[in-house]
Amino acid sequence: MRGTIMDYPLTLPTILEHAGRLHGDQEIVSRHPDKSIHRYTFADFYRRSRQLAEALLQAGLKPGDRVGTLCWNHAEHLEMYFGVPCAGGVLHTLNLRLHADELAYIVNHADDRFLIVDDDLLPILEGFKEKVSFERIFVVRHGNDPLPEGMEDYEDLLTAAEGTFVYPEIEETAACGMCYTSGTTGRPKGVAYSHRGVVLHTLSAAVPDVFGLSMRDCILPIVPMFHANAWGMPTTAVMTGSKIVFTGPHMDHESVLELLESENVTLTGGVPTVWLPVVDALKKEPERWKLKKGMKFVIGGSAAPEAMIRDFDNMGYQVIHAWGMTEMTPIGTTGVPKPAFDSMSKDEQFATLAKQGIPLPFVEIRIMGDDGLAPWDGNTMGELQVRGPWIADSYYNPDDPIFSWTEDGWFRTGDVVTVDKEGYVKITDRTKDLIKSGGEWISSVDVENALMGHPQIKEAAVIAMPHEKWVERPLACVVLEENAALSPDDVREFLSQKFAKWWLPDAVEFIDEVPRTSTGKFQKLALRERFSAYRSN
Ligand code: ADP
Repeated sequence: MRGTIMDYPLTLPTILEHAGRLHGDQEIVSRHPDKSIHRYTFADFYRRSRQLAEALLQAGLKPGDRVGTLCWNHAEHLEMYFGVPCAGGVLHTLNLRLHADELAYIVNHADDRFLIVDDDLLPILEGFKEKVSFERIFVVRHGNDPLPEGMEDYEDLLTAAEGTFVYPEIEETAACGMCYTSGTTGRPKGVAYSHRGVVLHTLSAAVPDVFGLSMRDCILPIVPMFHANAWGMPTTAVMTGSKIVFTGPHMDHESVLELLESENVTLTGGVPTVWLPVVDALKKEPERWKLKKGMKFVIGGSAAPEAMIRDFDNMGYQVIHAWGMTEMTPIGTTGVPKPAFDSMSKDEQFATLAKQGIPLPFVEIRIMGDDGLAPWDGNTMGELQVRGPWIADSYYNPDDPIFSWTEDGWFRTGDVVTVDKEGYVKITDRTKDLIKSGGEWISSVDVENALMGHPQIKEAAVIAMPHEKWVERPLACVVLEENAALSPDDVREFLSQKFAKWWLPDAVEFIDEVPRTSTGKFQKLALRERFSAYRSN
């Protein structure tokens, strides 16, 4: 049909150009490993992101090539967020909390061609470097240590650019980034984000009832940039021209509070584990920290406890409870007060805010119960299924068959929910056999398989137990072979050869047998009930 609008691609260069031209004076602040504060402007960020894009093209980057990053949250990482995709590459953020074997698997599976790594994270790279083959490795140097053999300085890469950068043609459906998520069974699974998906997510995240960002805001994402695009916060702030503050490696509550206060932050975001000590400190010394009135705390990754929401509210701050997934770019819902709140009691309001929220524009949700589609009545439970323009339709080259999508194209979240008549989703359970500790996943199945590889262990089941700080921690229920003599410490020691330290079960219980369902599967629910009073600290 004639007389319609342009067929204009939704790609990241449009956001970078907009930010560079309109918000050049806006500030980006990063805390370095030595705790010093580095400041520069959007104009610097714009120039350097384009330099990075040009230098990567000079280095031979081809459309769709993966560039791995092993970095904290800082300005250079933001340059990579834009420089890599604006060169037609795919930014692959590596989760620095993973075990070396898992990182090696992920880098090889994604076929990362280049790597950009922080100098203080080089010891992590050392752990898996021999098992991967990056063509070139660039180091972001905050300290003065000499570069390891064969590695190059990120700054030298940038200065190699001649300033003649022209954006390559990029289709909006092309991948711009990727991220791996833990597999319940099997290996980690890759999710590739499209330019179009990220642009639409960015636009949607900015609206008043999601993050509500404007150029007068200042954001501080504590959620790591290696975890699910830092919930879209950095990219959204670039689009809206908001001031951006990064913590670098310093995420302890004093450092965070210092930055929230000194930089006049208006919106921050992180998992409940990060906020617990912050709430404590604010309650203990209310006079010490002068945060902006009405400041927004986005809490997600695990359920925000109602008590935390009440505490923040009492102190004059707003909580935005967010739910999302790596497979969803990642935000799906946010807990914001609808007009219906005005006629609710305070208790009802808090109970509603403790739910996971209402879907973002463009995110479609449905509940699939045992008897088909379930109503939005706040009672009927079922699996939450979603679809939308930033939700993955498959995993990246999966090694094993994965059935996370329904035949009619909806993504199965593995979260069990109710939805009330106002559209607020409440997560009541999880079908995925994973444990979420401090915002990062532990695969119970992987730990069980390793345990069952021990000659003195007959069988084992690993379940989540509630933990005040980490939200969940693993408890290993172990059945020993006859005449075996293993202590809990022996079990943990055995696992420590294979897993990162934070994956090790906090407690090991020796039991006579693992309860089974009628079909012979482990009945973890029975174990969860048996050990429901278990707490570790
Ligand atoms: P992220 O941690 O950024 O949300 P992940 O892909 O690592 O992304 O984890 C997604 C899963 O985490 C969800 O399917 C859900 O089980 C859990 N989750 C995320 N946000 C919440 C929340 N607000 N409340 C409860 N569970 C959540």
